[in-house]
Amino acid sequence: MYTFDSHQDIADAILYASHGDFWRKNGLHEGWNNLGLPVNNQSDFIRLKQGEIRAIFGVSCAFSTDKNGNIIPSPNHLHETLKQINLFHQLLAESKGKIQLIRNRSDLKNIINYTLSFLLAIEGADSIDSELVNLETFFNLGVRSIGLTWSFNNKLAGGCNEDGKLTNLGKKAIRKMNDLGIILDLSHLNDVSAYRAIEVSERPVIVSHAACRTVYDHPRNVPDKLIKLVAQTGGAVGICGVPKFIDKDPSIDDVASHFAHALKLVGVKHVIIGTDFGSMTAEKLIPQFEEVNDVPKLLAHLSKKLGLKKDELERIAHKNLEKILEKTLPKS
Ligand SMILES: [Zn+2]
Repeated sequence: MYTFDSHQDIADAILYASHGDFWRKNGLHEGWNNLGLPVNNQSDFIRLKQGEIRAIFGVSCAFSTDKNGNIIPSPNHLHETLKQINLFHQLLAESKGKIQLIRNRSDLKNIINYTLSFLLAIEGADSIDSELVNLETFFNLGVRSIGLTWSFNNKLAGGCNEDGKLTNLGKKAIRKMNDLGIILDLSHLNDVSAYRAIEVSERPVIVSHAACRTVYDHPRNVPDKLIKLVAQTGGAVGICGVPKFIDKDPSIDDVASHFAHALKLVGVKHVIIGTDFGSMTAEKLIPQFEEVNDVPKLLAHLSKKLGLKKDELERIAHKNLEKILEKTLPKS
């Protein structure tokens, strides 16, 4: 059984924190961090293979830090986004045929024929312009998933740290994404914007990386009402491994509690895995669920604790996400 992880910050990890070398096996805390934050070097080609992760959303997230060290959207947003997209294309070229890019529905069926597949994703689409030229350019570069904001308001929508709303440009962008074949990711939006975005989108939507607000109250987590609405679109919610979203000093058992809640609420077809691994800025990670090669431990734990059968685990691990993407990706 392999996993298709709906969120990994690989570009960010390689360019700004950690090691710079995707191809060798790196130690979890080996490397550097130019933000002065703890080094959590959670993903590379070899550990992905060890963790039986055959496909990931390879994310571009253009951020910077303010003078207090807080993460904020990059002032050079387009440049940074393109730099990270370019990095994925560079890895593809270096892979000598081991990695494919998922651009359309037939690429989805080919996941099994490659060691690894990237689906290019952007979180925080601040660089989308009023004519949506950059949106089309992202599509042409292979981007197939977009989250409109990264926690803060922008010209498209309201982020989870603020009170803003989905704007007319945001609605226009969602419709264009529907037409092109880019899935809408609601992670990092505030509730009001997420509810409105679901009304506008005519295709399944996902929350690629979050957890359940009923289990642990955090603004990045998703309320029950939203989990149900996402499921009604035919989409799914991805449960992550970010300690501060799971609990105070969380264990792998607490991660399983978020899965259990979502499964109880919407059933096995609407839950996926979105680790958010890459270069997480946490002082302490979740024991046994710290890096990509820990994913089989999570699946074993879900099987034991929640009594999930093999076909149910397979759905959560990769089949649900593949079925959703069959409805959102371009045919060819
Ligand atoms: Zn994120």
